[in-house]
Amino acid sequence: MSVIDEVIKKVRRQDPDQTEFHQAVKEVMHSLEPTVEKHPEFVKAKIYERIVEPDRAIMFRVPWVDDRGEVQVNRGFRVQFNNAIGPYKGGLRFHPSVNLGILKFLGFEQIFKNSLTTLPMGGAKGGSDFDPKGKSDAEVMRFCQAFMRELFRHIGADIDVPAGDIGVGAREIGYLYGYYKKIVNEHTGVLTGKGLEYGGSLIRPEATGYGAVYFAAEMLATRGKNFKDKVVAVSGAGNVAQYAVAKANELGARVITLCDSTASIVDEEGICGEKWDFVCELKNVRRGRIKEYADKYSVTCVEGKNIWDVIREQGIKVDIAIPSATQNEIDGKNAAALVKQGCFCISEGANMPSTPEAIEVYQASNVLYGPGKAANAGGVATSGLEMTQNSIKLSWTREEVDSRLKLIMKEIHKACLDAAEEYGGKGDYMTGANIAGFMKVAKAMFAYGVV
Ligand code: NAP
Repeated sequence: MSVIDEVIKKVRRQDPDQTEFHQAVKEVMHSLEPTVEKHPEFVKAKIYERIVEPDRAIMFRVPWVDDRGEVQVNRGFRVQFNNAIGPYKGGLRFHPSVNLGILKFLGFEQIFKNSLTTLPMGGAKGGSDFDPKGKSDAEVMRFCQAFMRELFRHIGADIDVPAGDIGVGAREIGYLYGYYKKIVNEHTGVLTGKGLEYGGSLIRPEATGYGAVYFAAEMLATRGKNFKDKVVAVSGAGNVAQYAVAKANELGARVITLCDSTASIVDEEGICGEKWDFVCELKNVRRGRIKEYADKYSVTCVEGKNIWDVIREQGIKVDIAIPSATQNEIDGKNAAALVKQGCFCISEGANMPSTPEAIEVYQASNVLYGPGKAANAGGVATSGLEMTQNSIKLSWTREEVDSRLKLIMKEIHKACLDAAEEYGGKGDYMTGANIAGFMKVAKAMFAYGVV
């Protein structure tokens, strides 16, 4: 049995319930096959075995009091996966589905993504099974304070720098950072995604969505194409989705879909201008349901269905897909329909939104497929730029951060193509992203000896 297969088998045996983690390990490890032969020193030093084991996973109780005065108890986590190339870095997710397996998958992916950005950041992820939906601002604040009451001892500007993810946006980062500052008595760059008034970076809110579009634009350019007049499907309606829509509109595309966890909408005329403002206000301020968009603008709304099911069932033609909601949202059947209906480019705003079957469809169809760890790396890259600005105690302009983001996405795109070509998978962005991300981390781990 090959080293790679042994690693996959061991991961499955050790934690049989962590299916998302197995999926992520399997995808990365299979792409790393060509590195095994070229780097016997990694095999001897057991780099492949070591890289799938987190440095540590912290789990803690988060007790808080709701508006009725009742005590609630949630579970908090921080998976510090690998700090070979820099302090741990990765978002916090607040969602009822959060468990150790999901955070291990996200933390593992983050190692390679952060390495691809070329910035010195290790991989981590954390969060809680707390659901901010339906909670008052006061409840969210009390929860964030209780969460930070334990997390603070494990993080630091040079140790571990968390950020947002699903369910953790500007409001939550404000409460988390405010409480950290209170108990540690230090104003430091310990979280990213902060407000502009207290150390945040311009363009950080936009960065993941913009980055996914910049990455898609780079892929399209390899085939002489661009966003102008293209029909784009975006899923989700949160941070990543909103700014993917905004940038695609700016580049001349027509974005026709959005969804949330309860409904999907299709607006053939395009989600732009005042309609885009409506989505942002609906989701970021009123925290309402996407169905309200359909009620207001009289467009198609399908409740209880994922947008990729709707696209398949209604035979909707799209040119470019930017999945930006959650993991495993596009299955093999929906991927096949997307491609059959004319989609030629998929740029993943979300983490692992395509199932292994969906990826097989992309690879068999010769479509441009930008995997999440490359396509959505703009968010963490800009978090890295926020850390730099905090360290040098300066703030860069919007134009400066955006041009750095654009350059980083261009470089990630090139690194993926170069690695793919070097290791025999020309044009395969998934293999390229995994290998390019891995090489830097593996070399650092090797240099440290057995630690
Ligand atoms: P967010 O602001 O919380 O938005 C998530 C959106 O996806 C919400 O509209 C949510 O609907 C929807 N959603 C969640 N689960 C769904 C499901 N099962 N079916 C349909 N819709 C669903 O989160 P985000 O920051 O945009 O993150 C979205 C994805 O991007 C995640 O995979 C995240 O890991 C990834 N990502 C984020 C960043 C970042 O900088 N934020 C960076 C890299 C990658 P509801 O409104 O109903 O909850």
